[in-house]
Amino acid sequence: MPEQGTDIRSWEEGVLNCLQWEEYFHMSVETVVILGAGQAGAWAARTLRSEGFSGRVILIGAEAALPYERPPLSKEQLQRTPPAMQYLLSTAELGSLDIEWRRSSQCVRIDRTSRNVVLTSGEAIAYDKLVLCTGGRARLPAIPGINASCVHTLRTIEDAERLRLTLNDGARVLVMGGGWIGLEAAAAACAAGCSVTLVETGPLLCTRTGSPMLSDFLAKLHRSNGVELRFGESVVALEHSTATSSRAVYADRTIQDVDIVVVGIGLEQNDALARAAGLECDRGILVDQQCRTSDRSIFAAGDVAAIRSPSGEVLRLESWQNAQDQGIAAARALLGHDIDYQPVPVFWSQQYEVLVQIAGACVQGTNTVTRGAEGGKLIAVELTDDGRIASAICANSPRDFRHLRNFIAEGVCVDVARLADASVPITAAIASRAS
Ligand code: NAP
Repeated sequence: MPEQGTDIRSWEEGVLNCLQWEEYFHMSVETVVILGAGQAGAWAARTLRSEGFSGRVILIGAEAALPYERPPLSKEQLQRTPPAMQYLLSTAELGSLDIEWRRSSQCVRIDRTSRNVVLTSGEAIAYDKLVLCTGGRARLPAIPGINASCVHTLRTIEDAERLRLTLNDGARVLVMGGGWIGLEAAAAACAAGCSVTLVETGPLLCTRTGSPMLSDFLAKLHRSNGVELRFGESVVALEHSTATSSRAVYADRTIQDVDIVVVGIGLEQNDALARAAGLECDRGILVDQQCRTSDRSIFAAGDVAAIRSPSGEVLRLESWQNAQDQGIAAARALLGHDIDYQPVPVFWSQQYEVLVQIAGACVQGTNTVTRGAEGGKLIAVELTDDGRIASAICANSPRDFRHLRNFIAEGVCVDVARLADASVPITAAIASRAS
């Protein structure tokens, strides 16, 4: 509102000037550089074009391959005859969308003063806006022998190819880590005829995203497929390793001879460049709900971005869905759209014949309602004290999952008796919707 005594006309002109300045500001974005050509980066690039941005889009990726989907790496890509890779952007699309793709390019420095990213070659690429989608890398335990060539991690297409070639019938596979990588790799190794031992330091599987109920379900699934699960244990050394064998030494000094070691003990976020550039970080690059970092010219999305809410809570999601959605949100935000990115966490996994889907934040076991948990299916819904759905875990129930995911986003309250009765359609379990 104009201050008292201000001429209404000059106030209107002032507002108009501001709007024109905003418009000019966005028009002056001539070059957007996206660092990281994974799920988040590729979707950010695509979105800039679908939103009508006509300036330069430069997509810089460390890998040589075209931007590709990572979920198949620990699933179909480990099959003896894997399907064709799924690319996020084909060569033809990069051309038609006029995206300048810089493959095999590593950034070593972000110069925020001159607004340049500097590559290993010394080349400096200028940006008006920068989107950091640098993701993460596989964490390795600090134990002797971890660099042996029989040790595998799974993050890139090369990793998957290298592991696939070793998964021969009868091979003895040791999997370190009972998270998504470990479990999916264990399932792939079983399917290839390997004998599999999985070691998890904690008491449960998938603690980061799941719940005790999910852990029990997955443990039964893997044991029934022949996987030996060892909880509360850790490997402290890999000895006498060659390219095709190793001796694993456990903390209690027991020894196991193995042929292949797969490490899936978590992700280290690639935020070193951002930290060196002085951007605010807290186990990831801190962004707001507009995907903005502490520098208004720099945005971040995907595994590396930690969303800080206005109340100060920090949420960093490591998921395919978030990488895509946040990449899109970052592109739209930098073009001046009013974005309020508040994701519902969503994960999925395929192990053996089971599709596991999770939505929401699992809160470890208060008020859990199960629905029709038989025949390899599982639907477990965690409720908040006021009857809303906090999280849903489904196995081989994609239709119900779709509804539950929407219920979470819509803040629906459910009728517990109806929800628990599998003969009642899940949509009839709604008691009320958030006003
Ligand atoms: P993760 O899901 O974080 O699970 C790692 C597990 O390993 C945790 O339970 C961890 O326990 C345990 N662990 C830590 N140190 C260990 C050790 N020395 N020995 C044995 N266990 C140990 O990580 P991940 O499975 O490696 O996955 C890496 C990334 O790929 C994540 O971003 C994940 O979301 C992504 N990914 C996702 C999918 C999917 O969504 N379907 C599939 C594949 C990969 P603590 O928690 O106690 O450390």
